[in-house]
Amino acid sequence: MNDDCIFCKIAAGIIPSATVYEDDDFRAILDIAPAHKGHTIILPKKHAANLFELDADSAAKVFPVAKKVAAAVKKATGCDGVNILQNNGTAAGQTVFHLHVHVIPRFEGDGILPVWPQGAYADGEAATLAEAIRKEL
Ligand code: AMP
Ligand code: ZN
Repeated sequence: MNDDCIFCKIAAGIIPSATVYEDDDFRAILDIAPAHKGHTIILPKKHAANLFELDADSAAKVFPVAKKVAAAVKKATGCDGVNILQNNGTAAGQTVFHLHVHVIPRFEGDGILPVWPQGAYADGEAATLAEAIRKEL
């Protein structure tokens, strides 16, 4: 546990939270400033600042938790859809540097999240970039 990290303390149960799910590795809580009521964040109990630091075991376990929580949030809120969102780095909008996965209930036409621009690749550019990414794997 990182003593300076509020999400470590929440995940450990030292700071109380509106917990909706807990197992040995994760705690899911209601976000304190919800995009919609029922907005939940899933916190690993083991500190990792972001996805790049997350160990492989936690990475493998987190999506099944997101699936379970998303289904429960959808049933409990009656939302039409759910965004699973996870920010890494200030450039990506991360404000708390303990990895967390957002489960955000969505309602038709709510318009609460920006739609990203629809870019395009020049001829051959996608193939070159795909190759560059493949090389880093
Ligand atoms: P992010 O921008 O992805 O780093 O998201 C951080 C999220 O954590 C925001 O949606 C905050 O509202 C939420 N948050 C911050 N502090 C708390 C807290 N003490 N309890 C619950 N949610 C929190
Ligand atoms: Zn932490």
